[in-house]
Amino acid sequence: MENVISISNGLSNPSPERINSIIAGGRFTHTEMIDLLSAHRPETYEPLHAAALAVAREQTGDAVRLRGIIEFSNRCVRNCRYCGIRKANRALGRYTLTQNEIIACAEWIEEQGYGSLVLQSGDLPGEPTVVFIEEVVKEIKCRTSLGVTLSVGEHDPDTYRRWFDAGAHRYLLRVETTNPTLYAHIHSGTQTLKTRLECLDILRNTGYQVGTGVMIGLPWQTMNDLANDLAFFRSGDFDMFGMGPYIYDRRTPMATPALIASWNAHRDRILRLSLNMLAVTRLMMRDVNIAATTALDAMHPDGRVMALNAGANVVMPVVTPAEYRESYQLYEGKPGIDQDALESRDSLVHIIEQAGRTIAWNQWGDSPHYAKRTLHAV
Ligand code: SAH
Repeated sequence: MENVISISNGLSNPSPERINSIIAGGRFTHTEMIDLLSAHRPETYEPLHAAALAVAREQTGDAVRLRGIIEFSNRCVRNCRYCGIRKANRALGRYTLTQNEIIACAEWIEEQGYGSLVLQSGDLPGEPTVVFIEEVVKEIKCRTSLGVTLSVGEHDPDTYRRWFDAGAHRYLLRVETTNPTLYAHIHSGTQTLKTRLECLDILRNTGYQVGTGVMIGLPWQTMNDLANDLAFFRSGDFDMFGMGPYIYDRRTPMATPALIASWNAHRDRILRLSLNMLAVTRLMMRDVNIAATTALDAMHPDGRVMALNAGANVVMPVVTPAEYRESYQLYEGKPGIDQDALESRDSLVHIIEQAGRTIAWNQWGDSPHYAKRTLHAV
């Protein structure tokens, strides 16, 4: 199976008729998923994206849901080989916002009418962090009416339970890749896919709405891997998805000179593949929330507009105070580093208008999928 980075135009070239007949057929087989992902000519990817957009509109409505994201700490105990804030990056100044700074951001998010926020950081196990996050969540729930999502990595069941009891009701934990060998490799052999999957199960059983996703275009990743990721999405009954291209960061071991040298030659292909992955996720999972991620904007100035047009229905404007943004670069060229929260807000409104969509102001914007699965559980 070819590496996703090495896919060249002649190798995998489904016809428009093939794409349309797969879309019309419903439940996709492994081979059909690969054909959809491989659509790289306008006459094949445009109908794919249009079909996904139609499903997004039908299942989740026209309005795009917002989450202000507060990247509250770049401290991390892990050494993910792809990530710019990995522990071994000693050149990076580390920061953690104070509880008051986080609350101030949350109040600003409420004033803007975003309706929800995401608290994101590196992985910081240990009681002091557990208490810190628990208190912050309680305080946010006490002072605002915002929905609270956490994206703070792998923790034990008791910790997930305490944060849920404090008022967080959604959790994002990307599986990154469902290939166990690739997973172990990109995490320096110190984290296993098994643990990641156990965390996702625990989160679900604790009562969270659970979001997952993958990076697209990782070195050694294959089309087979991406089709397996999609099958995992389907079997996991998730509520939300966030996915985007892998983008190198020179400070990390994954950014080899060979990868950097070949970057420009394959970035358009990885962008296209990421949008196709998003569109196929929408066609398969239908009533879930799918984010138009910032990494897409790093690949193309209109990346997030393209994502909305390929079936995304969530945008996460960055609210992290301007002075910390440079220290929360997971990859190179992350957009918005030189913006403040107001500028991020204006650019997001512009993006959504460009995509011809409206905004779900002052709402939590939970995924319809969550409402349906909890209804069935009663
Ligand atoms: N510590 C949390 C939050 C991690 S950052 C956790 O582990 O869940 C959120 C996401 O950023 C990661 O899950 C990963 O998919 C993405 N990310 C990290 N480095 C990246 C890179 N170089 N390119 C693209 N996405 C990256």
